Amino acid sequence: MKTWTGKGLTTTQGRPKDSSSPGCGTGGMQIGRILIVSLFLLFSSIQGIDVKPQKELYMPNYRFYHNLKLIDDEIQYLLKFPNYVKLFSQYRSRQNRPQYLLHICNFTEIRRKKPQILFSYGEHAREFLPVESAIFFLRNLTGGLLPHADLYSKQFTHRILSQSDLYIILMANPDGRHYIEQTSNYCWRGTSSGVDLDRNFDWEFGGKGSTSNTQDEEYRGNEPFSEPESVVFQEISAEVSFDAFFSFHSGINHIYIPYSDTRSRILHREPDNVDEMMKLASQLSHCSRHWYKYGTSHQLINYTADGTIFDYMAGVRKIPFSFTIELWGKQHQGLSCFDLFNPESQELKELVQSLHPLYINIIQYLAEWKSSNQPNMVNPNLVPLLAVRAPLYGTGLHAFGHHGCCVGIGLSPQKAQELSELLSAPANSLAQNA
Ligand SMILES: [Zn+2]
Repeated sequence: MKTWTGKGLTTTQGRPKDSSSPGCGTGGMQIGRILIVSLFLLFSSIQGIDVKPQKELYMPNYRFYHNLKLIDDEIQYLLKFPNYVKLFSQYRSRQNRPQYLLHICNFTEIRRKKPQILFSYGEHAREFLPVESAIFFLRNLTGGLLPHADLYSKQFTHRILSQSDLYIILMANPDGRHYIEQTSNYCWRGTSSGVDLDRNFDWEFGGKGSTSNTQDEEYRGNEPFSEPESVVFQEISAEVSFDAFFSFHSGINHIYIPYSDTRSRILHREPDNVDEMMKLASQLSHCSRHWYKYGTSHQLINYTADGTIFDYMAGVRKIPFSFTIELWGKQHQGLSCFDLFNPESQELKELVQSLHPLYINIIQYLAEWKSSNQPNMVNPNLVPLLAVRAPLYGTGLHAFGHHGCCVGIGLSPQKAQELSELLSAPANSLAQNA
């Protein structure tokens, strides 16, 4: 049974866990391990349960949730702000659905030094909540651009846009979402070919923290990057020298830092910037009412995952900050799926509001970090921009490196304080456009 707890990166109890030395020795962890093993033994005789529909306790009401059509409507709305929102429309799924890579920045301002951040949503089809949190964030972000916006909204929007350079993959796996909408199989996690996109990347691909079993929801695919959906991650991370990457999931309240793979657990391998990542994880764990636990997946739930996107971003692309954030989860022992990863429709708005502080804390922390610690940082893995993508951008909406968002000055201490005060306001006051 793979849909009981802690899944995004993570998750799933169907495959046997790596039995090598765990990274955490607390009593709570021991109890957790016993429980997980018990559940594995209880449900291991159920074949393919994680890719078959279950009887759901509740399902999404699309007056509250966004289906693919409504997500596209949101994109069209955001494109009404061309000075701040640009869409890369060339990135599409195997079945030719858009993945919606957005670039959010004040393209009209003078150049300044800002953190370049990549947010990813919708890698796992059944996790609707992360996409909803992104839409809420984007609605707030553009709310201050409206003619009738109040002063507070305008100030909030101005500060966020002028002090961050955001790239957002809003729907990494649209075919999987389409499959759910067509079949009402709310347990579906993979792409149209059943591959777990978050096991399909070229960092320890093929390890025990994934599987070659095509009937398992952690099926990794035949080879790294076998899925067309992986291309957007590869290319954008080659072209932009990101300071941070965040892969948003749901299923449990955890923040994972690299590395999650099986080999790193054995070798005690860590990224160079692990101490800074732990600082940010600590701040994020306390900035909302969700009180996230943070650490590596094997420390938190005795679980390894090989070929993940955030390990790839940390290990191959050398992005200084790389996280998987499991935003929320409701653990239970039943067989239903949707309620494991997503709140009831009537609870959705309140929940995404409660997640909003994560975004503003991420941006605040990274803006200050970029300003104070990395004045001249250059990512040695950055591929020269025009050498890679120039032909594709000849008639496109945007060209990298010419948008005025990547270089310049950082935050002054006074500005940082002003931003901190502004961003500490309650999320509810930002919710008028949601
Ligand atoms: Zn997930």
